Amino acid sequence: MPYTIEQVKALVREFPDFPSEGILFRDIFPIFRHPEAVECLVSHFVDYIKALGKPVDVVVGLDARGFLFGPLIAIKLGVPFAPVRKRGKLPGQVVSATYMKEYGPDVFEMQSDAIESGKNVVIVDDLLATGGSCKAAEELVAQMNGNVILDAFVISLAGLEGDKKLKAPVYALMEC
Ligand code: AMP
Repeated sequence: MPYTIEQVKALVREFPDFPSEGILFRDIFPIFRHPEAVECLVSHFVDYIKALGKPVDVVVGLDARGFLFGPLIAIKLGVPFAPVRKRGKLPGQVVSATYMKEYGPDVFEMQSDAIESGKNVVIVDDLLATGGSCKAAEELVAQMNGNVILDAFVISLAGLEGDKKLKAPVYALMEC
């Protein structure tokens, strides 16, 4: 049976104190137990992106839950998907950007031929918290002279104001 976007949102679960004390983890995996819910989620993002009225050339997904639905959005848009991965996971020449995690700096990388100069990019991830990881992804795209036209998330944590760190407009399906 087809899902409504409200039914998709209702599948997101919360786990207190995971992966460490004080963190309320938002779990989007239950969505992926229902193919029709995934279809609804992906179509929702695709419709939103198309309504921007700008050409999209590449969808970029963040390690790791951005890989769950980023490629599905890219397929529906008929454009390439490019991954942002943690340091040391991608072969060949890479571009790098550092961002702050809870216990210190971490490094994101992209293959340096993933985005051609001047191409329009949509970045996707499951959740926007402080905005540090998406900011690093924006920097990677900028290093290849791409233009980020949208940062899209399933969930945005409202109190953290992660969107203020980001250069591109932000869309989140749900605010928590
Ligand atoms: P940030 O860089 O602070 O915006 O953190 C966003 C990244 O960390 C995303 O890739 C999320 O998957 C993950 N993340 C941060 N906080 C949570 C949370 N409360 N629940 C689930 N994932 C989270």
